[in-house]
Amino acid sequence: MRKISLFPLQRIVTILIVGLFLASLAQSKESQSVLHAGTAKIDIMPKKPVKMAGYAGRTELSQGVHDPLSARIIIFENNGKRLVLVSTDLIGFSNGTAEHFQKIILDEFKLEPAELFLSGIHTHAGPSLTIDKEKGHPHNLEYTESLKGTLIEAIRKALDNMCPVHIGVGSGYSPVGENRRELKFDSLGNSSIILGRNPYGPTDKEVLVMKVTKPDGATIAAIFDYATHATCLGAKNYIISGDVLGLAEQFVEKILGESVIAPAFTGASGNINPWFRVLPAINTEPGWIPEPVLLGTMLGEEVVHVFRNIENVGSPGEIKTSFITLDLPGKPKNEVTVPKDCPPTPLNITVARLGDIAFVGIGCEVLTEIGMAIKAASPYKYTFVITHCNGAAGYLPPKHLYIEGGYEINSSPFAPQAADMVLKQAVKMLHEL
Ligand SMILES: [Zn+2]
Repeated sequence: MRKISLFPLQRIVTILIVGLFLASLAQSKESQSVLHAGTAKIDIMPKKPVKMAGYAGRTELSQGVHDPLSARIIIFENNGKRLVLVSTDLIGFSNGTAEHFQKIILDEFKLEPAELFLSGIHTHAGPSLTIDKEKGHPHNLEYTESLKGTLIEAIRKALDNMCPVHIGVGSGYSPVGENRRELKFDSLGNSSIILGRNPYGPTDKEVLVMKVTKPDGATIAAIFDYATHATCLGAKNYIISGDVLGLAEQFVEKILGESVIAPAFTGASGNINPWFRVLPAINTEPGWIPEPVLLGTMLGEEVVHVFRNIENVGSPGEIKTSFITLDLPGKPKNEVTVPKDCPPTPLNITVARLGDIAFVGIGCEVLTEIGMAIKAASPYKYTFVITHCNGAAGYLPPKHLYIEGGYEINSSPFAPQAADMVLKQAVKMLHEL
């Protein structure tokens, strides 16, 4: 029997319809896998004088403001998977507030723990957070309570302005941070490590910068990561400031324009201070550039230099994230100044990946050697190490420094082997993303 064939015109139409169908399928798959991002910046200045964070000896309430404190949010989304980066101009989420804030944010936005990086820039010239109704100052309790609503509002705002984005990354270097473990001798020749300046000690000088643009090239964010304590200002200062990292954020935003947010993330800086450190006040002598402004501007200028040299931007693959709580061994009794065995301390590690850019969030104060080791062992070209992130578990020093002692070692809750455990775990998680 003769086969019935389609007329040529019918054939062409059929091919066209099938072609269009396949093209629309491909397009919808592509639009699903396009990286989107939304940003928000919100004021988090205390409305009343507050107890300030970071130095135990400071008993008075804050007495004025030098520069504004903000929270900066950037949310990435792809195929329903989110990565929420929150930078706050605070010391971090200590006094049990990390778990508290994490839970509120995760519940409100139905996020996985691995999708949230909640961090502080570690300024020691900002308010301390507290949820302790017995011991917390009423103004700080009030501030902490209102901060919850403020952060929720900012995250919602960022989610409301999601748009397709391209990202690019670059790195530079800055001398602003300095190793602070200074070797001193007493008159008998006994040595000790004090908090000071150690220009020969290891310091991670890298300034990592991520550029986030709309497809038309308009920039929405310049995210940066640098390892320094935000402690140009010391225990005698009662004026609120974002200190070196907050001032760097403000500088970058001033240069790049109001539509750009510049969230800072603190690299592994447990033993790193800014070169000018713990000063008693903001120097107002005519002609003097106050040190936090000077160093913040210096760091900010490097961020802008790196930012302007980022030419390759694109839309990477999927977002991958992972989260673990490690139970790290506590410092044993025979270790420096420890009267009894310390209990195990939980530590949160959060890792994420956007193409060949990785993020490692660690819930404590990580000494710089550990951050450098994580970066060196990371399988990704660029790894943002973000400390004071999803926790505030104290100092994490590398094992080899325990024999030297010093402030970070003495106040650490961790056993000497804890750092190696964190390093191995973080690198494993990066490989498994
Ligand atoms: Zn610190």
